[in-house]
Amino acid sequence: MKRLKYSKSLLVKFIVLFTFLGLSACGEKQQTATAEPEKVKQETIVWKLAQTWGTGFPIFGDAVIRMADLVKVMSNGEMEIRIDSSNKHKAAFGILDMVNAGQYEMGHSGSYYWKGKDASTMFFTTMPFGMIAPEQYAWFYYGGGMELMKKVYDKHGVYSFPGGNTGNQMGGWFRKEINSLDDFQGLKMRIPGFAGEVLSKLGVVVTNIAPGELYTALDRGTIDALEWVGPSLDLNMGFQKIAPYYYTGWHEPATELQFLVNREKFDALPEHLQQILTTAMQYSAYDMYARSYHESAVNWASIEQEFPEVQIRTFSPDIISAMKQANDDLLAESAANDPMFKEILDSQTAYMKMARKWTEISDYAYLKDNIE
Ligand code: CA
Repeated sequence: MKRLKYSKSLLVKFIVLFTFLGLSACGEKQQTATAEPEKVKQETIVWKLAQTWGTGFPIFGDAVIRMADLVKVMSNGEMEIRIDSSNKHKAAFGILDMVNAGQYEMGHSGSYYWKGKDASTMFFTTMPFGMIAPEQYAWFYYGGGMELMKKVYDKHGVYSFPGGNTGNQMGGWFRKEINSLDDFQGLKMRIPGFAGEVLSKLGVVVTNIAPGELYTALDRGTIDALEWVGPSLDLNMGFQKIAPYYYTGWHEPATELQFLVNREKFDALPEHLQQILTTAMQYSAYDMYARSYHESAVNWASIEQEFPEVQIRTFSPDIISAMKQANDDLLAESAANDPMFKEILDSQTAYMKMARKWTEISDYAYLKDNIE
């Protein structure tokens, strides 16, 4: 009994001791446990991105998804970007305003959509008779393009970054062949942007129609011609079934989309996240260029095979020369009234002149003797 009593009291002592030790050890553990997660478990930065495109829009929308996925993985979950499509935010052409206002931290769109607000923005998409994609990327990253783009977008409270290139776009689908400038008179065509202004000067009745209504408009003769992108995106639209003449391009030789980022929000990010975001945008933009080239090649092969009635046409030299003249006149008019417009035009013109000499003795020289 006594022994048992003794044992009991010893046991109690042990229990008290171990409980104390256990508690203090546990306390230490808890301290370490709370200190570590505080370091590791930072709050996830969640951003919202508004895109001009609808849900599931191929290639363009895929570039945005890829960018957001990369940011999440590369930041180890520290940053997430949620994407709202135009069917949700209902403002396909309000992206710049929404990102400027901070309603969305980011956007994905096309710089030339803002030309009504600021004519200088259109240079950062593509220009009729302008640079092809490799020349334009060289200009953006090494020829002063990024600096000029920053200068223009500073006024709008946002940063703009290249957002993916479609490559050279086709001149459009025509129901009738265009043999002379006379054929342009009264021709109803959907062609947006600066190219639309150029054709309008040459007698074309230019309209802009929402993508979803393009096929019906061409099928019913509301319009006689339209341009969209190129085989990468045109095939699914079905234009090859209703317009046999597919003209080569002159008006969008290197259409670059854009990522927009609210300036204050970007500046407030820690440096490593700024770097991750910038890298993810640049990677997904270049990836979209490669993807567009691939899809165009594959889709063109299938149009050629399944729709042998489709014929490739190129505008005649006198039509091209009239387009060039109208383009130069319009550019000179705008440059005369707008120093920023002139600065970018001069930069692009000078850069293209230099880069084209290289293109001529490299890719062009190689291709002209190697096309069967
Ligand atoms: Ca286009």
